[in-house]
Amino acid sequence: MSDKKKRKRQYTPRKGYSKEQYRRDTMQAYGVLTGIAVALVFVLIYFMFIHKPSADAKQAADVPQTVTVKKVIAGESVSEVSASDENGSSTSEPQDSSSAVTTTVTQAGNETAKPTEKAQEAAGHKLEVKNGITYVDGIMIVNKTYSLPADYAPGLDPTAEAAFNEMASQAWSEGVSLFICSGFRTYREQDMLYRNYSSQRGTDEADRVSSRPGHSEHQSGLCMDINTTEFDFAGTKEAIWLANHCADYGFIIRFPLGKESITGYAYEPWHIRYVGKKAAKEITDQDLCLEEYLGVTSDYKNSSDQNG
Ligand SMILES: [Zn+2]
Repeated sequence: MSDKKKRKRQYTPRKGYSKEQYRRDTMQAYGVLTGIAVALVFVLIYFMFIHKPSADAKQAADVPQTVTVKKVIAGESVSEVSASDENGSSTSEPQDSSSAVTTTVTQAGNETAKPTEKAQEAAGHKLEVKNGITYVDGIMIVNKTYSLPADYAPGLDPTAEAAFNEMASQAWSEGVSLFICSGFRTYREQDMLYRNYSSQRGTDEADRVSSRPGHSEHQSGLCMDINTTEFDFAGTKEAIWLANHCADYGFIIRFPLGKESITGYAYEPWHIRYVGKKAAKEITDQDLCLEEYLGVTSDYKNSSDQNG
């Protein structure tokens, strides 16, 4: 900046406004500014070190609790002790809560719903996977969540077949005719059936009444469609007899009326599943479906195979 310009900008007192007066006014202005600055520093210190979190901040501090519960449900060796630890620290040390919130929320964001829901499976039950087949409390589970390997092809289970024959002969003696309409199906057969359904009726409807390959119980060899797969089987004397007596032979009506949201399938009065007499009695007496009995879901979203 040139001297000329500097001089131009220099203060020229108005008439009657002395240089001394100007100096005092300037000092006063500086004083006020300093005062404001000091006040700001105090406010800053107050919020950084002294201030307790407000209701909003407390609400934010609750976030890790929810996340922790999720983690515990996820069951990835996160114990309940660590959960209470985290809750404790977020309440007793509020100044740390903001950073805790940020990191934990990030974790929650990374957690997809899939492993969380999956880990809720069979809580309080014994879940085992042998050769790609899932057993809960020793009962093989095949549904929308749990599938069978494509090469699993045991044929109709001999125990289930013997139980059916015993049941059918008793029914026959009471004037009721029961026969197996469809028993064991291979992965490939199911694949073709499902493709047929979904091309004719769309995926949503196909998923209500049919199974994607690997997810059909018919591939387990433990279930059978009795007499028909037409809905007008419901209410016939055969359907009524079957519903009333199949548990005595170790079978359950696998997809009961009113349980579609749990089993994932529409009511099928003809589809029976062999689970053994003890489980069949308990399931039937308590009016449960197999998913409720074993504490598992039936949802392709929770499935880990490529068809789910
Ligand atoms: Zn069936």
